[in-house]
Amino acid sequence: MAAIAPGGRIGILGGGQLGRMLAMAAAELGHKCHIYCPDDEVPAADVAAALTRAPYDDADALARFADSVDVVTYEFENVPAETARILSEHAPVRPGAAALATAQDRLTEKNFLKRNGIATAPFADVADTDDLAAALAAIGAPAVLKTRRMGYDGKGQAKILAPKAAAAAWDAIGRLPAILEGFVDFEREISVVVARGLDGEVAAYDPVENIHTNHILDRTFAPAALTPALADEARAIATKIVSELDYAGVMGVEMFVGRDGRLLVNEIAPRVHNSGHWTMDACAVSQFEQHIRAICGWPLGSPARHSDAVMTNLIGADAGKWSAVAAEPGAKLHLYGKAEARAGRKMGHVNRLYPLGKRPPVTPR
Ligand code: AMP
Repeated sequence: MAAIAPGGRIGILGGGQLGRMLAMAAAELGHKCHIYCPDDEVPAADVAAALTRAPYDDADALARFADSVDVVTYEFENVPAETARILSEHAPVRPGAAALATAQDRLTEKNFLKRNGIATAPFADVADTDDLAAALAAIGAPAVLKTRRMGYDGKGQAKILAPKAAAAAWDAIGRLPAILEGFVDFEREISVVVARGLDGEVAAYDPVENIHTNHILDRTFAPAALTPALADEARAIATKIVSELDYAGVMGVEMFVGRDGRLLVNEIAPRVHNSGHWTMDACAVSQFEQHIRAICGWPLGSPARHSDAVMTNLIGADAGKWSAVAAEPGAKLHLYGKAEARAGRKMGHVNRLYPLGKRPPVTPR
């Protein structure tokens, strides 16, 4: 497949910070980005060549947008299947439909992983209260009930501490099609950001450890403190996932490290990932550049880490700390240009760099 040469036109669905950082990386390779986003505020459009502001179900606007670019990609996994289908009649959509379908539905995702021999928490399909009772009997409590679709940052999830709490959990998730997952008593949460090129070449960044606060990523420690064997296993799992999906682009693979040292995959995100933001300053080729390379049919860059790093998200009022962060040696500030610092809103992040082997230990917040 011919590579998209510098000067290429990249369409990005979604105009948030991930689209913004993709557009900046694309510009560094000589490409021009066209953002498609229905929102009033579009941080990605500040750094892009063109913006279409239209709903995701506007077939005419989607067709015009896709006709204006060489390839379409996206910054969020909940792109409606019909939107992707319309776009794909006018331009290649990368990552493709199989990745979207797999990542959009937790049951499809878990079954895909199981089919490929990749360990996950025990899970069961829950369509009604009878299923839920049967699933709880089989899996046991504590467990987590998660809607199959549209869940993120802990939304659409309810923990069940004891079987008598099942009805309340079912109500809490809106009685939507769901899966029940066994609650993993994990030692830590890690992720692997992995890229696959159009020719099947794979490059995985080092596994990193993630600390969540209120279900939102708070900090990423790069690298995770794993044995070399476990780090290799995490990379091998991520590699298997992108290869089986015949994937093009960057993917985030979230995993639990169990207290028994086993790796269990929690979920996959078919896009650049918040837990990969550290690569912007600790690797020669960031996850954003890597994604653009992959979807344009370029050789992938090296995922090697030249520094250790701790990435801290600036959420809501944290963004007010910009001047202290800007004054800090060894800290690189990234702000997303969002006007209003609402609680829980990702406003920016800071990467703090350390020599290899010298990152501070993981601490709770
Ligand atoms: P998710 O939306 O599936 O990524 O879940 C968000 C967060 O909830 C994860 O990062 C974990 O901290 C926690 N979590 C999700 N599923 C489980 C599970 N089966 N066992 C323990 N913790 C979980």
